[in-house]
Amino acid sequence: MRSMLHFMFLLCIATPVLGELEYRLQPRQIAVNTWLLEGSTEDFDRNNGGNIVNTAFILTTAGVVVIDTGPSKRYGEAMRRAIAAVTDKPVVKVLLTHHHPDHVLGNQAFREAPIAALPGTNRRLAEQGDAMAENMYRLVGDWMRGTELVLADESLEPGLLQVGEHRLRLLALSGHTGADLAILDETSGVLFAGDLVFYQRALTTPNSPGLDIWLADIDTLAGLPWRLLVPGHGPLASDDAPLLQMRDYLGWLDGVLGEAAASGADMNEVWRLPIPERFAAINLSRYELIRTVSHLYPTYEQRVLREPVP
Ligand SMILES: [Zn+2]
Repeated sequence: MRSMLHFMFLLCIATPVLGELEYRLQPRQIAVNTWLLEGSTEDFDRNNGGNIVNTAFILTTAGVVVIDTGPSKRYGEAMRRAIAAVTDKPVVKVLLTHHHPDHVLGNQAFREAPIAALPGTNRRLAEQGDAMAENMYRLVGDWMRGTELVLADESLEPGLLQVGEHRLRLLALSGHTGADLAILDETSGVLFAGDLVFYQRALTTPNSPGLDIWLADIDTLAGLPWRLLVPGHGPLASDDAPLLQMRDYLGWLDGVLGEAAASGADMNEVWRLPIPERFAAINLSRYELIRTVSHLYPTYEQRVLREPVP
């Protein structure tokens, strides 16, 4: 009996808990030479390991271009295996759409490739990256083990980037974080919008310079000649439904925050405002409204205070 208990004890401590933490990424070919790794539309938690984000890669004649590296070292490594299942060509470029943790903390797995970002993205990463990584450890736990911040080593300018036969148009926009890269692959017609576009998942605003700026970016994206749109979060689209939803949602948010400030409402009243029925399919809208109020409402209140009394 004693040896049986002893055996069971050994079995317990020998169980590789970390072995269960597998992202099981399934790359899906969405266009010529183009694979998408679609995350869930949830918030970070210990079940999803932070895989709430869309990442992608493009296989060119010159090698592989990676777009965003995911929320952890473990994700980055899983992404590398997913790429290796498709090609043995090397990764020749990593493009970061912006500095948020779910998009960049897989960088460690791509250290040998040049990691490129807008200068503003790298600056924000240097300032906020460690704190963001720490927060991710708190939110998703062991999935993050071994993850450390790796900064970009190349600065991107807006314009054309040719990699093999793929012509990538890089756009430097700013509505989500102040430095947001959108990538239009002119060869395949795929637009990688990064977090300028959330679809069926409420947008996040911790670093947004303003919803009006973000709305202008949506107009810029709408004017591009794309055929497929990859949002930063949420499902792929071949029509402009994600852009219409973003415009509608941003316009509604901007309107309610402005009206609430004008009426002198305080934050906890704004948190409870009704969310229109037409946004029912957007996951986490209440949760993100509460966060957005804490991020942006003070600016709306200050604007009201600055306006001259008629
Ligand atoms: Zn983001």
